[in-house]
Amino acid sequence: MTEERLRLRFAPSPTGHLHLGGARTALFNWLLARHTGGTFILRIEDTDRSRSTEEYEAAILEAMRWLGLDWDEGPEVGGSRGPYRQTERTDLYRAAADRLLREGKAYRCTCSAEELDARRKEAEARKVPFRYDGRCREKGEVPGRPFALRLRIPDEGTVVVDDLLRGRVEFPNRDLDDWILLRSDGTPTYNFCVVVDDVGMGITDVLRGDDHLSNTPKQVHLFRALGHSLPRFAHVPMILGSDRTRLSKRHAATAVLAYRDEGYLPEAVVNYLARLSWSAGDQEIFTREELVAKFSLEGTGKSAAVFNPEKLKWVNAEKMRALSPEALGERLLPHLERRGWKPPDRAWIGRLAVAMQERAQTLGEIADAAAFCFAEPERDARAAAKWLVPSVAPALRDLLAGLEAATGWEEAAVKPLFESTLARHGLKMAALAQAVRVALTGKDVSPPIYDVLWLLGRERSLARLRRALDAIEAPTP
Ligand code: GLU
Repeated sequence: MTEERLRLRFAPSPTGHLHLGGARTALFNWLLARHTGGTFILRIEDTDRSRSTEEYEAAILEAMRWLGLDWDEGPEVGGSRGPYRQTERTDLYRAAADRLLREGKAYRCTCSAEELDARRKEAEARKVPFRYDGRCREKGEVPGRPFALRLRIPDEGTVVVDDLLRGRVEFPNRDLDDWILLRSDGTPTYNFCVVVDDVGMGITDVLRGDDHLSNTPKQVHLFRALGHSLPRFAHVPMILGSDRTRLSKRHAATAVLAYRDEGYLPEAVVNYLARLSWSAGDQEIFTREELVAKFSLEGTGKSAAVFNPEKLKWVNAEKMRALSPEALGERLLPHLERRGWKPPDRAWIGRLAVAMQERAQTLGEIADAAAFCFAEPERDARAAAKWLVPSVAPALRDLLAGLEAATGWEEAAVKPLFESTLARHGLKMAALAQAVRVALTGKDVSPPIYDVLWLLGRERSLARLRRALDAIEAPTP
């Protein structure tokens, strides 16, 4: 017997950004495909033209690429592989509809929207759920009358789904009605396209968010009507916010690209999302290769996971620390650029990266810590009042003279000047360093002081020290 190769898909609708929940679904499909040597497909479900946009599609693809979730099939466009798009597959839906009609598994319904509306209202008045009663089942074509195509669902019986994550779930047929495959304008419906594509693409495992569980019985009937065996289903519980309601903008940024823009590393987001609903012992930090090697549905949690932004930050900090200074500098550059800042050279970025690697949790924080190098900082009044005080002025002036005469600007040249100044004035390092820090950066929190001097450069450092001294020594008005 040949081993079955899994075929998995992620099927986003381009009606919004890729959010964390969607990204986790995409990741789980991708991991399972990579773990088993199977195939991962990306399918854009864009048949709802009124809500789908090209911008959202582009943003979803960008997020997938940023996360490194590459797909294996799809049309070649301009040398790269595009995703499948449902709007490019309408012939397939047509053909499937024709076949179902021909085989008597679907039928024409000529009930008008007004008629259906009236019946819906009547059901509401009687406080019973509205279900289409199947009155057109035996009617056949009514010449000249537009029709929708409905799937014939058996009145009796139950759909049983052995969900890989949720276990056995039963859906009585009496809760379903003969749902619409094609609308009267000929457009295919959402559930219809999903199943035609899952069949056509040979999907073996449908792994998706559990908000789709209620679609599953409808889809199961269609798989059967199309004469196709069922894929395995696995519905992943959704992601919740800290108050245990569905994760939304109220709790945190939800769009994946927002995390990129804030300075999270894609490997941190991937690691965090993987661990959010899956575990392998106590391990928290995984390389991509480890995730691929260890991922399985058995390790996937069955209850909803709660998003913890602090933990994501922690994972990000761990991942930043694991990078070489050069690699970290490389990742940092776009964050400086997006602030409109042009760092002098690679050595400079590398120095900033090393100075902040142990202190910051995101690339955005590192970039922000360098703000004093790109604009004249505004002086924090509280910090200035505390540290730029007359008692430190003589030492500061002394240090300034030493720095003006210094032959180098590296820590090795500058540090002895600080030390000798402290000794001469009987000051503590904190008093002097904080005064210098506020003078150079405007704040009392910054990268280490010798890095601050180096990053800012000799001329600007001296100028800012002089200005600070002038301010301390100026007679108060
Ligand atoms: N297009 C659906 C969504 O964006 C996913 C459908 C599916 O996975 O079956 O939620």
